Amino acid sequence: MSTILVTGGAGYIGSHTVIELVKAGYDPIIFDNFCNSKPAVLARINKICGKNIPFVVGDIRIREQLEAVFNNFKIDGVIHFAGLKAVGESVQKPLEYYDNNVNGSRMLLSVMKQYNCKNFIFSSSATVYGEPDVVPITEQSPVKRANCPYGQTKVDVEYMGEELQKADPEFSIVLLRYFNPVGAHKSGLIGEDPKGIPNNLMPYLTQVAVGKLKELSIFGNDYPTKDGTCIRDYIHVVDLALGHVKALDHCLNKAGVHIYNLGTGVGYSVLDMVNAFSKAIGYELPHKFAARRPGDVVQCYADPKKAKEELGWEAKLNLDDMTADSYNWQKNNPNGYED
Ligand code: NAD
Ligand code: UDP
Repeated sequence: MSTILVTGGAGYIGSHTVIELVKAGYDPIIFDNFCNSKPAVLARINKICGKNIPFVVGDIRIREQLEAVFNNFKIDGVIHFAGLKAVGESVQKPLEYYDNNVNGSRMLLSVMKQYNCKNFIFSSSATVYGEPDVVPITEQSPVKRANCPYGQTKVDVEYMGEELQKADPEFSIVLLRYFNPVGAHKSGLIGEDPKGIPNNLMPYLTQVAVGKLKELSIFGNDYPTKDGTCIRDYIHVVDLALGHVKALDHCLNKAGVHIYNLGTGVGYSVLDMVNAFSKAIGYELPHKFAARRPGDVVQCYADPKKAKEELGWEAKLNLDDMTADSYNWQKNNPNGYED
């Protein structure tokens, strides 16, 4: 079976994807510098997989560290999760974001080309659509200049991949545009472990539920939506992981640029999420309304038809699964991964 290098494989989405790759018969190798993850995740992944997954501590920006992996393994394809992802931090530290995300991806692609490895799957984001003119969002919707450095790095790496494919038509470049990943593995052994106070809605909800945070502030209740709060397409991280497996099955050695939305196609408001979470925990989750968060788009949800038709993939897990699994992970690991 094919050997797949998973950059950022110790992170939230990467760790779940490694497990689904193993289940599908692929041989993943984890490559991570642990700048936003902890080595403790590795033993959990191995426990779930029932075998030891090879891992390499390294940084995608350092050519020699990447070359060492390509020298030691015959790598058939790369799933590229490694990157920085905090919108607010990217505004404070734009150069770090361009360095890690754009320069790091450039280095990775350059080493792949050097070793004649031409299958690249990239973690892109619905953020490339900006404030969409129409929802649901299809892959044909225009990609816009982003309103923060993080988002722009996604636009830039997509563009770099497309340009490389034009110059070297043997490349298979897969751009997976994720909507809002939430949830955790059913085992409760792995999940999302943000540093400090979470920026994203679901980890904030789970931390309120276990008493680590007092109450959720809902950013804005005067948007033009059914209840005044913003709408997003939340997708269970295990469904998302399976989307990568299907993308590999379909696109490995299939030269071209392949773009897919990975979402459920259903939009939920922030209040819907609070209500679903309250149902899961059996009492009303403490929350209050607060000012809008600058830069938030009003509504963003996918048209996932293309992935269904071409990859045979669609999200199967529903909102109850997402809330129950997120809560289960947080309850079992109130302080995340502890070394
Ligand atoms: P994460 O931070 O949990 O995982 C990223 C991993 O990459 C971490 O383990 C980190 O240590 C590693 N990493 C970062 N820079 C590195 C470098 N230079 N060299 C080696 N390893 C490095 O994030 P995640 O939520 O799993 O996201 C994975 C990818 O998906 C990211 O590229 C992110 O931008 C993208 N994405 C995430 C979301 C989301 O909401 N989580 C949405 C859309 C796209
Ligand atoms: N949100 C909120 N309170 C929080 C965190 C998020 O009301 O503490 C809202 C946010 O304004 C947005 C939605 O929840 O409307 C999803 O936010 P998240 O940051 O998780 O995803 P993104 O906005 O990047 O899609």
